[in-house]
Amino acid sequence: MRKPVIAGNWKMYKLFDEAVEAALALKSLVANANHCEIIIAPVFTALKSLADRLEGSNIKIAAQNCSTESSFGAHTGEVNAEMLKDVGCTHLIIGHSERRQFYCETDNLVNLKTKAALSAGLTAIVCVGEMLSEREAGRAEVVVKDQLVKGLNGLTVADVGRIIIAYEPVWAIGTGKTATPEQAQEMHGFIRSTLAENHGKEVADATRILYGGSVKPDNIRSLMSQEDVDGALVGGASLEAESFARIVNFR
Ligand code: PEP
Repeated sequence: MRKPVIAGNWKMYKLFDEAVEAALALKSLVANANHCEIIIAPVFTALKSLADRLEGSNIKIAAQNCSTESSFGAHTGEVNAEMLKDVGCTHLIIGHSERRQFYCETDNLVNLKTKAALSAGLTAIVCVGEMLSEREAGRAEVVVKDQLVKGLNGLTVADVGRIIIAYEPVWAIGTGKTATPEQAQEMHGFIRSTLAENHGKEVADATRILYGGSVKPDNIRSLMSQEDVDGALVGGASLEAESFARIVNFR
């Protein structure tokens, strides 16, 4: 049985007080939800305070990026995975399409960051997904497989057991265009079989694969009804506590 995961990516939204307000509102709205793991990913500046305020609750904290460097030292502007763990993060989003598109994040960097997250004791949420042009050219599976193979290169079976995959078709992120439940299932099934091919069936069957791309309170149920959809990575609809709580309480 794979426990569903509903994760909210707050991207570069919310000043500190707004983040605290939203997190505390969410905390009371989802206090009774134990059917899934609940994660929010605020900006760096709110991580420690939200982790402290949510301690003992059912909401976990993710960061949205980390340095490839595990060592401390002269890396101006960088924050390493151990520092994120130190302030209370349990999870780390890696390879989001916005980072791939706008910050030159390659599969090699995704791989290094995934390893850094795991060695700091964080759960890595590794994002993959094709662009619209790639889907239209019939290359969606090739692209996603390539991202998976390179992103998880060199990971042991035990390492893979500590990651979550998020399938986020780029054409569906922030566009209001959601993949149909059937399109999501098709790619999630493909991702699971790729994991099985490369890392073994047992760990593939246990890996949570989240769907991301314009998930809303009114489409979460149909997505979650698919066999290989184990949760959601939610952007826009996670910013309001009330709508994110409706997604968390999808059942
Ligand atoms: C995301 O940022 O990961 C995302 C899926 O965004 P949205 O839900 O707004 O499409």
